[in-house]
Amino acid sequence: MIDTHCHLLYKGLKEKHGEIIEDAKKSMKAIINCGYPGDVEKSLELKRDHDGFIYLSLGLHPIDIVKMSDQEIDEYIDLVRTHKDDIVAIGEIGLDKHWYPKPEQQLRLERVFQQMLDLAKELQLPVILHTRKAEQECFDIVRENGFKDVVFHCYAGNMTLAKDIKEEGYYISIGTNLMRSKNTKKLAQRFPLEQLLTETDSPFLSPYPKKINVPQNVGYVLERMSELRGLPVEEIDKVIEKNCEKLFGI
Ligand SMILES: [Zn+2]
Repeated sequence: MIDTHCHLLYKGLKEKHGEIIEDAKKSMKAIINCGYPGDVEKSLELKRDHDGFIYLSLGLHPIDIVKMSDQEIDEYIDLVRTHKDDIVAIGEIGLDKHWYPKPEQQLRLERVFQQMLDLAKELQLPVILHTRKAEQECFDIVRENGFKDVVFHCYAGNMTLAKDIKEEGYYISIGTNLMRSKNTKKLAQRFPLEQLLTETDSPFLSPYPKKINVPQNVGYVLERMSELRGLPVEEIDKVIEKNCEKLFGI
């Protein structure tokens, strides 16, 4: 079992991440922790402490971008560059029209998104996309940039675009919220298994009421996928692990 997207150092998880990681090791193969500007050093430390189990992706979420100056963003990009050997992907990066719908906000977010894509291209790393209410825009941008290794994290777009995602050979990452969205459920059931990943987005999107989400809940995703596809959990998990190996080298 691999959780390709979680935030181990976010509030809710960071207070007890030691305990959670030790427990996760009992049933999981790997975790990709998505770091952000505020936690780079701690994320690197976590990766070193759990070498071969915790992997790191560094990104720049729209929510961070709006709080940073252009200079701070440039400095962060330099910082990511210096740690290129410690990371398996750039992400999450992307656009968010839910929280930032104004055209002038979008312009800046698009500019920074492009900077991060340029960085991923330079470092030859896959990208993990945050595409809230901007799925088509993100898709068009990565395609125009000639990207091959792309993950749509928590994809909530329509099925027509999902078909284009499939044809481009991109990946969709199915999260612990899959049963709450008709489209995600459909994708978990029908999208080619060779282009699917599993994730939790912990501490968010817990499948269980009033509980924080943890990486080991990726098992919940696999169980639901198993029911939806009529295949054993082990068989699905084997393909997903292979996808992760191919994409992230883990
Ligand atoms: Zn996330």
